[in-house]
Amino acid sequence: MQFHDSMISLVGNTPLVRLHSVTEGIQATVLAKVEYFNPGGSVKDRIALRMIEAAERSGELKPGGTIVEPTSGNTGVGLAMVAQTKGYHCIFVCPDKVSMDKINVLRAYGAEVVVCPTAVDPEHPDSYYNVSDRLVRETPNAWKPDQYSNPNNPLSHYHSTGPELWEQTDGRITHFVAGVGTGGTISGTGRYLKEASGGRVQVVGADPEGSVYSGGSGRPYLVEGVGEDFWPTAYDRDVADEIVAVSDKDSFQMTRRLAREEGLLVGGSCGMAVVAALKVAERLGPDDVVVVLLPDSGRGYLSKIFSDEWMSSHGFLDEGEGEARVADVL
Ligand code: PMP
Repeated sequence: MQFHDSMISLVGNTPLVRLHSVTEGIQATVLAKVEYFNPGGSVKDRIALRMIEAAERSGELKPGGTIVEPTSGNTGVGLAMVAQTKGYHCIFVCPDKVSMDKINVLRAYGAEVVVCPTAVDPEHPDSYYNVSDRLVRETPNAWKPDQYSNPNNPLSHYHSTGPELWEQTDGRITHFVAGVGTGGTISGTGRYLKEASGGRVQVVGADPEGSVYSGGSGRPYLVEGVGEDFWPTAYDRDVADEIVAVSDKDSFQMTRRLAREEGLLVGGSCGMAVVAALKVAERLGPDDVVVVLLPDSGRGYLSKIFSDEWMSSHGFLDEGEGEARVADVL
C-alpha cells in the first residue's frame, strides 16, 4: 500500500516550474518554486513543522498545550494543520487587512481567530503583537512560536528549501528571489545557497514600497504577508545582496497575469516577487538561472486581487481594463 502516515510528511519538496509568457524577451531561465503544493497551501508549513517539533523537544510546548501566534494567515494554517495531528489547540491574532477568506480557513481548521486594527503602532496595546502577548500570559499552557524571532523559522529553510533548490537546479541556480516578511525564507534559503555555491548565488529580496527592508518607514501597503514596520531577528541582514521595492499596483497586475498567462493562481506577494525577479533577469544572459519563490495560492484573494471591482476601487486597473472584459462577455 502507498500512503502517508499524516499530512505532515507531505510538507516540502515542492516543484519548480518554468515561466514562459511573463518572461518574454528575457534570456535567463526563470523558474518558480510553487509553494502552494505544500499540504496547508503555503511555504509556511515548513516553518510550522520545524518550530513545533523543536518546541516539543525543548519542552516549551507541552502535551495538550495552546499555540498562540500573531499571523497573517499562512503561518496559522501551517501551525493549525500540524497542531491538529498532534493534539494542540490554536489561537491566532490577525491584522484587519487580512482577507475574510483567510480567516475562515483558520477557523475551519478548528483554530480561534482574534482580529486587530492594522493602523496602530506596534507598541499600541491593540496592535496584533501586543494582543498576542497578552493572550500568551492569560492562557494556561500557552506557547508562542514567534515566527519573527524563532531561529527555527530561517533554519527550516536552511534545511529544506535551500537544499531542495540546489538539488533541483543541479547546482546551476545563479539568483534566488523571494519576498521578505519575517525574513525567514530569504535568510535561511539564501544562506544555504550562498554556502553551497561558495558565495556565487545572488540573493534578492522583494519588498512592498513603504516597508523598512527597502528603506521605507512602514507606510501601509496592501500586499499581504510581506514587508514590515520593524526589523525582525529572523531576518539576517547579511544575506540579501539587493532589495527591490515593488508597488501594490505592479504586484497585483503581475499576480493576475500569472493566473491568465502561466496557469499559476497565486497570491499577491508572488506577483510582487515575480516583478522583482524579472527586473533582475532582464540584465542577465542565457546561462543564468533565476529562481523565484511563490509563497501561496490565489484562492485566498479571490475577492481582492482577482475582483475587478476591488482592483478598480484602489486604482490598480489600467484605463478600460475591467470594462473591456465586461464587453467581451456581452
Ligand atoms: N508571502 C506570504 C503570502 C506570506 O504569508 C509570507 C510570510 N509572512 C511571506 C510572503 C514572506 O515570507 P517570510 O516570512 O519567510 O519572509
